[in-house]
Amino acid sequence: MPVINVHDKKFDTYLSEEVIHQRIKELAAAINNDYEGRRPLFIAILNGSFMFASDLFKQLTIEAELCFIKLASYKGMKSSGNVVTSIGLDDDLFGKEVIIVEDIVDTGKTLHNFLPKLEHQQPKSLKIAALLHKKEATAYPLKLDYVGFEIPDKFVVGYGLDYDGLGRNLKEIYQLV
Ligand code: 5GP
Repeated sequence: MPVINVHDKKFDTYLSEEVIHQRIKELAAAINNDYEGRRPLFIAILNGSFMFASDLFKQLTIEAELCFIKLASYKGMKSSGNVVTSIGLDDDLFGKEVIIVEDIVDTGKTLHNFLPKLEHQQPKSLKIAALLHKKEATAYPLKLDYVGFEIPDKFVVGYGLDYDGLGRNLKEIYQLV
């Protein structure tokens, strides 16, 4: 398994491109089945979820809409978790079937703080699809509806996820050595 350097840290290969794509196909199959005839709106959270959102969306066979929004920042290797505001949410969510697309749920604070803002708009339904979930680190009550991988509480990069701005272009997911 190749070890790579991103900035000053070493990372080990953790999830291969094939494993990620296979799991995304399974998540898409579940969503295609659950949302048959319902036309959900996927709200993908930038920056980290762009690759996951793209690959997941390509596997959908149902009618679906997609938009991207940006929440508060994440600096270095510690989650700040304070959602200040969302940028780019132009759609009126009233009566819509919303699926949030998130790269990784760590403490859960980001989504826990953000969900009430969406619920306030009274969507018909609101679900969460997260590629990665650090279950043991999650300290806020959060129901995740579609989860790609439960992972240990170790910092990861690649497949859209960065370490101080770098590593998003990696096709695989790497874990801090
Ligand atoms: P939470 O609010 O759940 O603690 O953190 C969510 C956000 O923190 C994610 O959307 C992501 O931007 C960032 N994050 C949490 N864990 C990691 C990680 O292991 N690697 C990277 N690159 N970002 C992470």
